[in-house]
Amino acid sequence: LLYVQDLVKTFGSGSRAHTAVDRVSFALAEGEVLGLVGESGSGKSTTLRCLMGLETPDAGDLDYDRIDLRKPSRTQRRRFRREVQLVFQDPYSSLDPRMTVGQILAEPLVVSGACPARERRDRVVETLELVDLGAEHLGRHPRDFSGGQRQRIAIARALVVRPRVLVCDEPVSALDVSVQAQVLNLLKDMQSRLGLSVLFVAHDLAVVRYLCDRVVVLRDGRVVETGTREEIYTRPREEYTRTLLEAVP
Ligand code: ATP
Ligand code: MG
Repeated sequence: LLYVQDLVKTFGSGSRAHTAVDRVSFALAEGEVLGLVGESGSGKSTTLRCLMGLETPDAGDLDYDRIDLRKPSRTQRRRFRREVQLVFQDPYSSLDPRMTVGQILAEPLVVSGACPARERRDRVVETLELVDLGAEHLGRHPRDFSGGQRQRIAIARALVVRPRVLVCDEPVSALDVSVQAQVLNLLKDMQSRLGLSVLFVAHDLAVVRYLCDRVVVLRDGRVVETGTREEIYTRPREEYTRTLLEAVP
């Protein structure tokens, strides 16, 4: 469904040039949960930013459902923006503090035209209920919620347009350990109920263990190893993957 082929992104130039992403390739199949795992600075966010069109890659191919993401037409870009939704690491900074939950969830529907105006409220409430929050929260602001609840709102905002793909950049790293499992369970539940394909970025192998069908291990901008969950966790081929696994409790 989503293909990344030989992606390269270099920051700076001359002697200070740094290749953050160095010929990274992977594919996300329909309905699959794919983990992209690597230590801080390994190029995970840069890869996602290139994919989402927030950064211009130096080389490589990006393809979503036969749309060439390096030169999409306007209608293709529109379709991509609706069907592929992003959840960020930090729900504190990704939710506008001035908006109510109702407004936060309605906005993507207005922008994308994904839902007729008269059905908007129903869609918003239905989506809020999907993440275990009710209509009584519609008039509240992000500051009135805990970190875990805020991340649930951020997930609801991504789901409100009924995307096919969810791209998550360390969605639980900013949360207390006690609520991490809750949010991960919610994502897993949403994935199977809505038949989503998920690209899930994490900096350790523990977080993706129960979520991912396959895992791509990144180091210094390069793919070290790609395998099924079974392969990565029980018989990793690379020494580096074993090192990462030793950190898993
Ligand atoms: P983390 O787990 O800390 O989020 P990451 O794997 O997401 O790390 P990236 O944010 O992709 O890593 O960064 C990869 C490398 O690219 C780092 O060395 C970083 O300093 C560099 N980098 C990222 N964005 C920029 C930028 N806009 N300008 C210059 N260098 C950048
Ligand atoms: Mg990052």
